[in-house]
Amino acid sequence: MIFKNLFMEHCPKCKKVLETKHSKPFKSIVIKLCPENHYQKEFHPALETYIETYKVS
Ligand SMILES: [Zn+2]
Repeated sequence: MIFKNLFMEHCPKCKKVLETKHSKPFKSIVIKLCPENHYQKEFHPALETYIETYKVS
């Protein structure tokens, strides 16, 4: 169950709690973002999947 993981997730790099945002053009998409920009996770409820992005600086 994906939605259980929507809350209180942490960045794999700095362990900060990810911020939650909603994509403007696609309101159903939930974006979880590290405050330091290390990591991003997009939830696509319609597709029942998510996309993880690791930002390498
Ligand atoms: Zn981070």
